[in-house]
Amino acid sequence: MSNINPNEIISVLKNEIDDYDRKMVVQETGTVVQISDGIANVYGLNHAMYGELIEFENGVRGIVQNIEMKSVGCVLLGTDYGLSEGSKATRTGKKAGVPVGEALIGRVVNSLGNPIDGKGAIEASDYYPIENEAPGVIDRKSVSVPLQTGILAIDSMFPIGRGQRELIIGDRQTGKTSIAIDTILNQKGQDMICIYVAIGQKASTVAKIVSTLTKHGAMDYSIVVSSPASDPAPLQYIAPYAGTAMAEYFMHQGKDVLIVYDDLSKHAVAYRAMSLLLQRSPGREAYPGDVFYLHSRLLERSSRLDEAHGGGSITALPIIETLAGDVSAYIPTNVISITDGQIFLESELFFSGIRPAVNVGLSVSRVGGAAQTKAMKKVSGSLRIDLAQFREMEVFTQFSSELDKSTRELLDHGNRLVELLKQPLAKPMSLHEEVILLCAATNRLLLNVPIKEIKTFKKELVEHFENNYPDLVEEIETKKALTEEMIEQIKKVTIEFKK
Ligand code: ATP
Ligand code: MG
Repeated sequence: MSNINPNEIISVLKNEIDDYDRKMVVQETGTVVQISDGIANVYGLNHAMYGELIEFENGVRGIVQNIEMKSVGCVLLGTDYGLSEGSKATRTGKKAGVPVGEALIGRVVNSLGNPIDGKGAIEASDYYPIENEAPGVIDRKSVSVPLQTGILAIDSMFPIGRGQRELIIGDRQTGKTSIAIDTILNQKGQDMICIYVAIGQKASTVAKIVSTLTKHGAMDYSIVVSSPASDPAPLQYIAPYAGTAMAEYFMHQGKDVLIVYDDLSKHAVAYRAMSLLLQRSPGREAYPGDVFYLHSRLLERSSRLDEAHGGGSITALPIIETLAGDVSAYIPTNVISITDGQIFLESELFFSGIRPAVNVGLSVSRVGGAAQTKAMKKVSGSLRIDLAQFREMEVFTQFSSELDKSTRELLDHGNRLVELLKQPLAKPMSLHEEVILLCAATNRLLLNVPIKEIKTFKKELVEHFENNYPDLVEEIETKKALTEEMIEQIKKVTIEFKK
């Protein structure tokens, strides 16, 4: 007791008095009048803003979603344990947001940006609001830099550019997630930060994805935001916005970011549950009227900024699950109209062994062509048409046995192209592999290779080039273009190799 120093006490008190002004904020406190199903109606928060964070007595936070005459409706971002009618709720004056920064890379976090991988606290660089305005027209630049997915079928026919939004759509279990994950794996060394947002999935599925990413060293440049099916609807609802806020931090620093939303169908379902609990009126398929805006304001935040704004970009790969291939349902049509193209995956193709199961006729990339490398453009020119003709002819010739020579050749060529585009999981191709194989195939040099042997032929041909023509391989990788001489050389070497 004797070592209490009166001067010390005086100085502390003085500091407190000096700081008194700064700490004075208007605290508005309200009372919970009704609470159920993760929704709280609070009376007395007269100045609360839409989207503001409200802190409840038990430490849980909520977001203001409904502003009514006498009360505000909040969705709780956690448990309502310990809350009842009469509990106190306080305004924070802050918009809902998440911590952002480099420290998040390599981590698995929940929708609030809190770590859930048991690797300790995250020291964030900044705090970004989850809802943010999309960059305006003037701040943007058109898409012109490619994003290599490493998947031959996509890079050749539906190229994706940095800043683009390409939808991956298909029935359940058609390889949607696999395409997104393979694309993330292929970003190794590409100066790209990847964010995978899992919405409403099984926690075990997410754990498997994290282990795949870790195994291939992709967590070194990735963030996983997970809101599993067991999370309350409001947390699932904010997950993609939280992921986008983290992406925006990097984009504003001039970096390139790839973000995957897996999947937006479950996101819409979570929003529907939340809206119905907030007593908003249901519309088509019981979704609320603003479900289009739900996804458009999210996907519009993906863009490529011009040099004056740092030149960063966010490329988005949203995923949508369809029922029995029905792309004309409410949510699929909405998201198709928002995005810059879609990759349509089909169960029928998937089960017949064509994986990735990309339906060539229904898939499209509306802006990626401008971003495709010159080399790829040169060798993939006729691929789509050849495949489309093949599909058409295949149906016609199913029952006839006598075929003329040109039809026979068209079918043979098509069959080999289909075989060429098959690709196993976690085996992304580099540019030179894709270019050499396509160059050989589109020049019809695979025609007399038996279909069963195409798989090994592909592998050995690429190895042959890598071992014996490293200059050529190097030139494709660095210049990303193809001269006539190079094409002639690839053709010549392939013909020799076939012998
Ligand atoms: P869900 O609807 O459950 O989310 P999904 O459409 O995301 O499914 P995936 O989980 O990516 O599909 O893939 C389903 C299964 O197909 C997985 O077991 C995966 O290993 C397999 N698969 C996906 N792509 C390929 C491929 N290119 N080659 C071989 N197997 C594949
Ligand atoms: Mg999936």
